[in-house]
Amino acid sequence: MRPIVARIDTAALAHNLLVAKRLAGPARVLAVVKANGYGHGLARVGRALRAADGFAVLSLDEAATLRAQGLSHPIVLLEGFFHPDEIAEIARRRLQPVLHREDQVDALARARVDHKIDVFLKLDTGMHRLGLARKPWLAALERLRAIPHVGNITLISHFAQADDPAVGVAGQLATFKEAAQGLAHPVSLAASAALLRYPESHGDWVRPGIMLYGASPFAGETGADIGLLPVMHLESKLIAVQNVRKGEGLGYGHLFTAPRDMRVGVVACGYADGYPRHAVTGTPVLVEGRPSRTLGRVSMDMLCVDLSEIGHAHVGSPVTLWGDGVPIETVAAAAGTISYELLTALAPRVRVEES
Ligand SMILES: *Cc1c(COP(=O)(O)O)cnc(C)c1O
Repeated sequence: MRPIVARIDTAALAHNLLVAKRLAGPARVLAVVKANGYGHGLARVGRALRAADGFAVLSLDEAATLRAQGLSHPIVLLEGFFHPDEIAEIARRRLQPVLHREDQVDALARARVDHKIDVFLKLDTGMHRLGLARKPWLAALERLRAIPHVGNITLISHFAQADDPAVGVAGQLATFKEAAQGLAHPVSLAASAALLRYPESHGDWVRPGIMLYGASPFAGETGADIGLLPVMHLESKLIAVQNVRKGEGLGYGHLFTAPRDMRVGVVACGYADGYPRHAVTGTPVLVEGRPSRTLGRVSMDMLCVDLSEIGHAHVGSPVTLWGDGVPIETVAAAAGTISYELLTALAPRVRVEES
């Protein structure tokens, strides 16, 4: 068996949820578990986060997986329904679609269902991805109020630059407040970044995703810096040790040339496992619990690490690619990406263990 494993610490998930709840204060917490629970396994994450007030997903399949775990929480479909055919199941499973287009309101008005459907109505406050502009949004709200099978209506929007301290949420928040002035509906605006930094944006439902998995949404900061615990620990072992002579090249393209005689470890982990191919030489790893760094190009099934300072490392030595002692944010930054992408790109071939 290949020694690579993604160890998922479910107690860390529960801890991070508590941090989110504490920050949220009176606001309720919708745990965002799309993309297979950010790569951690949807059913597992749902169970570990059952103390959340609700869940947010994208698809009916994901909602069904959560319901199959016995979770009776509110479940929000962040992109609503993709086809009117889905409305019957939405009603039956008591799911709450985000409505972001007028034709979704039309379809809901025409639907024949046995249960009331609670909905979120999305205002575009400046991200220009999903949502209606102010006028059609207000018109849609009037229409929804008149549909007998529509239950509670929550007003929702999403920030484009909450993770950029130089911009923040002030502009979009002002746009939202102006549009929603005088409307007596609950409000949901904040994902992790706004939950962490902008209490004035919390509203009634916050929607943390990445922070539940232990990572910070802010560049240059790690989850540990803000009291979060990493949930996914990507671990493997050395499957070979090489002595490379001064001046010799290493790996594909000989991207790394040994500046002196050195011992190099070969780790059973490559880009086909979800480790980023663009991680540069010097990306941090732990070998035998000691800090080390990657060397040269990451290949499909392997990568190389520096054993210069770890004389006792040998075939079978444990390696941490990310997790405790190796912040995933640092690995992501070394590859020109973000923790979200690494977590959600964990390959199906990697064994997952719960701890
Ligand atoms: C993914 C998503 C979130 C969670 O964002 P994080 O940055 O992971 O906290 C919240 N709201 C919406 C609409 C999303 O799509």
